[in-house]
Amino acid sequence: MTSTIPAYGLQAFRYADHAVPRGYVCENCKRSGCKLWRPLVPTSRPLEPIPLRCADCACKTMGLDVARIDAKGHLPVRIGREIERIDQIGYWMPAIPTESGTDFLRPTVVSVEALAWWQRLPSRPA
Ligand SMILES: [Zn+2]
Repeated sequence: MTSTIPAYGLQAFRYADHAVPRGYVCENCKRSGCKLWRPLVPTSRPLEPIPLRCADCACKTMGLDVARIDAKGHLPVRIGREIERIDQIGYWMPAIPTESGTDFLRPTVVSVEALAWWQRLPSRPA
């Protein structure tokens, strides 16, 4: 497994600029400027965009209550007998692009800087 999955239509940007790359838009409601999630397993074929969803749209798809999401993008989920807060929304993972905008980072290779960029974004669209 490679450390990234391809992203299409995103522009290069810098984590330090606290901005979102052009093209970082929810596929469903078309809102931007907030955290987005992508499917765990990319279902798209080559040269098709990876679907991106805001918290509202991802939670709606998964039947989860978006009102329970916190500022870091964590939702409470029941894991066995415990309640844990995780940054996945069902099978939707944080969509953290590389600065080149050409790929999304897999969770195992996300840097502190990249995660901080994502966590700084509003968890829900304005
Ligand atoms: Zn949306």
